[in-house]
Amino acid sequence: MSSSSPKSPSSSSRPLLPYGWDADWETAFAPYAAQGLVAGRVVRVDRGLCDVVTPGGTVRADTEFVVPRDPMKVVCTGDWVAVDPEGGDPRFVRTLLPRRTAFVRSTSSKRSDGQILAANVDHAVVAVSLAVELDLGRVERFLALAWESGAQPVVVLSKADLVPDPVTLAHLVQDVETAAPGVPVLTVSALHGDGLDVLRALIGSGTAVLLGQSGAGKSTLANALVGADVMDVRAARDVDGKGRHTTTTRNLLPLPGGGVLIDTPGLRGVGLFDAEVGVGQVFSEIEELAARCRFHDCSHESEPGCAVAAAVDSGELSVRRLESYRKLVRENQWIVAKTDARLRAEIRKDWKRKGAEGRAAMQAKRGHWS
Ligand code: GDP
Ligand code: ZN
Repeated sequence: MSSSSPKSPSSSSRPLLPYGWDADWETAFAPYAAQGLVAGRVVRVDRGLCDVVTPGGTVRADTEFVVPRDPMKVVCTGDWVAVDPEGGDPRFVRTLLPRRTAFVRSTSSKRSDGQILAANVDHAVVAVSLAVELDLGRVERFLALAWESGAQPVVVLSKADLVPDPVTLAHLVQDVETAAPGVPVLTVSALHGDGLDVLRALIGSGTAVLLGQSGAGKSTLANALVGADVMDVRAARDVDGKGRHTTTTRNLLPLPGGGVLIDTPGLRGVGLFDAEVGVGQVFSEIEELAARCRFHDCSHESEPGCAVAAAVDSGELSVRRLESYRKLVRENQWIVAKTDARLRAEIRKDWKRKGAEGRAAMQAKRGHWS
């Protein structure tokens, strides 16, 4: 919150508070309020039309005037917008307030455009099931995506009831913590309700999304947070005061204890997209080490004075984590390079060389350790 913001939102926009409206949005919206436009948050989008929650209820709005050619600027769930005052149906979205954060995914393998999945998300809850063996590489991948969006990640180890031994559970938490510097790691059992309060408190202000593999327990968590079956909640009749509105499928729901949950279908299977910054944040300790390598362009393979290799040697950094870092860096470069065939060819050549050298170096090291 900036200190220049008004102390509290005006009474006319109070109905938007459960949807995440705050003093900063009020400030951003002020010029449009002066034009007589109405503020609202997009709770659902489909083909050029969207549902917008406004102080007067949910309205249907056309995005024709704000849809630019850039696919990243398409109106999406979570956006704050200015719509026409009462009159037409549908109304028109007149402007999109600048986003604080955004989740983006690469579309098909042929097209490398980004597709925007959710906007203005503050908390990215990465659900990880304790019913199956931990895959830290996968956790790191979701964390990269979360950091990249600008949201603060939280890891929720779900189905904690399946790990009744507290010592084992503590070890699992510790393992995940090493893969998630700067990220709170919670254990939750949606079945027994354990840990839900801590999660609620963490995401109780602002907007959250649930990420994670299929089967990680996201739907169950969403239902527990919303306090009802989300599918029922989503299909609830949404009346805009004129009785015009019929059933809608909302992708954005206020939570009873405060906060907002966005759950769009696309977010669930999301992959990396140009997540260089996010990857750097997930592996912040490796990037810190790398800053101390003798050569600024050190590849941490076999160069002298390599702080990363030294940390691996001393046991401070695990080989697993270093390899996971490399994998995500490469994967990300690959996605970025899809837009540029020449760059791709260059990277490929480079990987081949580094891959061969790296494998040789790692093998030499492994032999050395064992
Ligand atoms: P999603 O695919 O991530 O949405 O996962 P679901 O919410 O559908 O959950 C996958 C499975 O895990 C379902 O069979 C749930 O009943 C089960 N599950 C979810 N949460 C818990 C929990 O806290 N404890 C246990 N034992 N099972 C759970
Ligand atoms: Zn190095």
